[in-house]
Amino acid sequence: MLSTHDQAAVLERTAHLYSRVKSVIPDVEWPLHASYIDAINELKKERNAVVLAHNYQTPEIFHCVADITGDSLALARRAAETDADIIVLAGVHFMAETAKIVCPDKVVLIPDEKAGCSLAESITADDIRKLRQRYPGVPVVTYVNTTAEVKAESDICCTSGNAVDVVESLGTDSVIFLPDEYLGKYVALQTDVKIITWKGHCEVHERFTADELEDYRSRFDGLTIIAHPECPPDVLEAADFVGSTAQMQAFVHEKRPRRVLMVTECSMSDNVAADVTDVEFIRPCNLCPHMKRITLANIYDSLRTLEPRVEVDPAVADRARLAVERMLAVGK
Ligand code: SF4
Repeated sequence: MLSTHDQAAVLERTAHLYSRVKSVIPDVEWPLHASYIDAINELKKERNAVVLAHNYQTPEIFHCVADITGDSLALARRAAETDADIIVLAGVHFMAETAKIVCPDKVVLIPDEKAGCSLAESITADDIRKLRQRYPGVPVVTYVNTTAEVKAESDICCTSGNAVDVVESLGTDSVIFLPDEYLGKYVALQTDVKIITWKGHCEVHERFTADELEDYRSRFDGLTIIAHPECPPDVLEAADFVGSTAQMQAFVHEKRPRRVLMVTECSMSDNVAADVTDVEFIRPCNLCPHMKRITLANIYDSLRTLEPRVEVDPAVADRARLAVERMLAVGK
């Protein structure tokens, strides 16, 4: 327990951070967050560590301890560039694996090893080997929301932000697109390449319905609806704009809609709302239970103990790295 004097010093040191999140974190909650934030930021300096935070992390993590924030693509790119010795991945396990794949010599920590993903769990390396037998010669494009073993069996990775470019970069008539069925169908609408899909779904985005969106439209005058392509096709059809989390964020920053509903994990709205205070956010709250396993407390513990570490079999990592690097080269 901090003394009153120490607590006052912590609040003073973190005041500039609170000013960034005060529109989304009540002041009564801040002192508890501030102690962890102060300790984490100190430990990062001591250990030459960086925290990478996905857009679905809560604002006290995203705005107050993260050095690098973004969608899966941004995190993969920036992990490859960092000079830090230690990477703490505030996100889910496949993201930490991707960081380890692109930075094999760094220590990569995931504060909770159980932070999984329904998409990553929907397909195995063996499934891909069977698909290759069924569709000989057809390249495999794999969404980054997959395990290292699955990436290793793939020709190239993609994210929701670059999927069409990646598919078209292969120059083939058809591709096997894994594992997100809805993202695959959305890509198919934008290209002449035939897309062979799999039955994987994101447990957060598949819960949204078109009826729910129409209900929001009827209740909130002048509402702009922007949706993530992991949502079902009828939801995407009901939206005004579809894009990756980075594209949704850019949309709000640039277009400044009067009222917006972001059809994605609900911390994303809080993180954008902290920066864009002149837009009203309507927030249906679908939380990702895996993302929410990451907390300031377990980030602090992870930095203190340098555990749990993410390791990837070097032979698997070498093959998976090729698929990730091919993706990173698209659009360069
Ligand atoms: S939001 Fe969906 S895709 Fe993202 S980590 Fe959670 S379950 Fe996986």
